[in-house]
Amino acid sequence: MPAQAGIQSTGHYGHNATLTHSPTDMTPFQPGFSGSLLDRADPLRGDAAALALLLQHPQAQLLQLQGFDPALTSEGALVWGLLQGQPDTDSLILLGLLQGIPHFVALQQHSAEAPLYRSPRTMEILSLLGPQDMATYGTARSLIDWHGRHRFCGKCGGATLAHKAGWGRRCSSCDSEHFPRVDPVVIMLAEQGDRVLLGRQASWPLGRYSALAGFLEPGESVEEAVARELFEEAGVRASAVRYVTSQAWPFPAQLMLACIAQVQDAKLSIAKEEIEDAAWFSRDEVRAALNGDAQARFLPPPAYAVAHSLLHHWAWPTEPKRTTA
Ligand SMILES: [Zn+2]
Repeated sequence: MPAQAGIQSTGHYGHNATLTHSPTDMTPFQPGFSGSLLDRADPLRGDAAALALLLQHPQAQLLQLQGFDPALTSEGALVWGLLQGQPDTDSLILLGLLQGIPHFVALQQHSAEAPLYRSPRTMEILSLLGPQDMATYGTARSLIDWHGRHRFCGKCGGATLAHKAGWGRRCSSCDSEHFPRVDPVVIMLAEQGDRVLLGRQASWPLGRYSALAGFLEPGESVEEAVARELFEEAGVRASAVRYVTSQAWPFPAQLMLACIAQVQDAKLSIAKEEIEDAAWFSRDEVRAALNGDAQARFLPPPAYAVAHSLLHHWAWPTEPKRTTA
């Protein structure tokens, strides 16, 4: 899927949500899945009296889903309905507050197929959503998926029940508490002179190249994981690693830690069981790809992926724009 530049949508909140990517200038890039306008209202999650009031709020909102994908307005914004009449308030997650109005999403009762990855339809929807709506949806999707995969206690095997407004589960047998997990993943460009190393997997669209990536393992630092993954997948040795930005990736619950590693020796040794190919690309080639040039040497990752933000940062060196609601 080509990069989406300058997407605009008028969201549910009446704000204009605009991706700040302007391919030909130096505008900082807003990473995907960041900048939700909702106040997460953590102190209210365990407050039963406050939660009861929120559930009775006449304007309380419920995120409308179709399966695990969001319903969209004709402008590409999330669809919200009134919560009133929702019979099963035990199955609701409090996503947060906007101007005092609570916003919820309902747990799905049959999600045994989790963990969930992107479907082609999900990818199509993501290319339409503005970043703030994308962030709200990503939070909802990760939480729904986590509940579906944690119906039983990892300690004693007893059934667990959602509590704390959907931000935890408690074992009905041993009373253990369980909380949603986030899995850190390093994603990185190796840099040598004025070139970067990109790779591709056989399952990707023809011509797409992106940053190499891998899960952190127990006991590893971010820098160590970056160096290990680069050596395992491409045979290059990182001499220095710098952090650039991060982004949630709700398929199902990753935190992408985007880095750039310096490499002295450009010789590649590609692990074919991990990636189909890897190659070095010049800054001009990366700029052409991000600009959507039909003659570009490769197809870049989609705009909502942190690899796109990372490549944009490398091609036009500015700090990614961080929005905190
Ligand atoms: Zn238990």
